[in-house]
Amino acid sequence: MPLPPLKEQFAALIAAPSVSCTQPALDQSNRAVIELLALWLGDLGLRCETQEVAPGKFNLLASLGSGPGGLVLAGHSDTVPYDAALWDSDPLRLSEQGDRWVGLGVCDMKGFFPLIIEALRPLLGQRFRQPLLILATCDEESSMAGARALAAAGRPLGRAAVIGEPTGLKPIRLHKGVMMERIEILGQSGHSSDPGLGHSALEAMHDVLDALRRLRAHWQKEFHNPQFGVPQPTLNLGCIHGGDNPNRICGQCALEFDLRPLPGMDPEQLRAAIRAKLAPIAAQHQVRIDFAPLFPAVPPFEQPAHSELVRLAERLSGHAAGAVAFGTEAPYLQQLGCETIVLGPGDIACAHQPGEYLELARIQPTVELLRELIAHYCLRGPDS
Ligand SMILES: [Zn+2]
Repeated sequence: MPLPPLKEQFAALIAAPSVSCTQPALDQSNRAVIELLALWLGDLGLRCETQEVAPGKFNLLASLGSGPGGLVLAGHSDTVPYDAALWDSDPLRLSEQGDRWVGLGVCDMKGFFPLIIEALRPLLGQRFRQPLLILATCDEESSMAGARALAAAGRPLGRAAVIGEPTGLKPIRLHKGVMMERIEILGQSGHSSDPGLGHSALEAMHDVLDALRRLRAHWQKEFHNPQFGVPQPTLNLGCIHGGDNPNRICGQCALEFDLRPLPGMDPEQLRAAIRAKLAPIAAQHQVRIDFAPLFPAVPPFEQPAHSELVRLAERLSGHAAGAVAFGTEAPYLQQLGCETIVLGPGDIACAHQPGEYLELARIQPTVELLRELIAHYCLRGPDS
């Protein structure tokens, strides 16, 4: 089967549902997307390897050329869940509306893969001195399990990696980490008329909240990075549930919070600092305090400003590299030895929303930029 034209590739990828979600009822396999990409890339002569990360969840690594070095063009094959009733068009059917293509995943970010193919096609007759790797991961929108599995396997990938998340074609070299954590306090209920009959989880939680707010103030004084719109680390007390009736001593109380560390802050150290505050509160109130992440942390990410890839992307895009507020798979690719940036054609403002779109005007500049990157890392010699 010959490779379909660009728009048909977009349409086929959008039509292959690949929602990933922490709620099992909404979670889907990404098999259909991976199979399409493997078919097309295999057709172009790339060597395709798929890895089943979890049942029905696959990573794809396609390569052209071999040896060390080279370029990784990476993206995730999954999308967030959608509410079809809020869309004006079918989210799984690519539609052209004015100067945009609309559909679930056009911007975030299945649409990146056809643009890579478009960039690559005219270069296929040339000798690849260093490899081009095209990586499609699973479960970025839920657990980042695909990128984590890759990082855990530890196989070096390439000299440079570009992740095509929506950045409006501006290079991104920093983002904060994402941690979502839960503290659960187990006390003992009893009649409210006599505090000696129980151990209040709610009273203990009051001290926990106080301790978290003090830690936050301390971290915000210690860490500051003006590259970010919100230059400090943040800690949001997201939700709390506890107790039932006013005349019962509260036996159980749980808090969930979100922590966004700056580059340079280590999630494990932050957790250790929190744990150190919880132990004396548990002892004082005679309650049990369990503290655990809701999912593994996405580490903060920073690629130094002077890196070859950052400089090159700044020159090719015409924009200085900056920071974004969302987390990506970049720290995992960095762990595998790649200089890494995030740079893609979509706009983050329309991602995760009904009517997600890609502006047609972004297509050609993206294709040209990707072609330059491939030429730089794969076609020219290491010293040219
Ligand atoms: Zn994304």
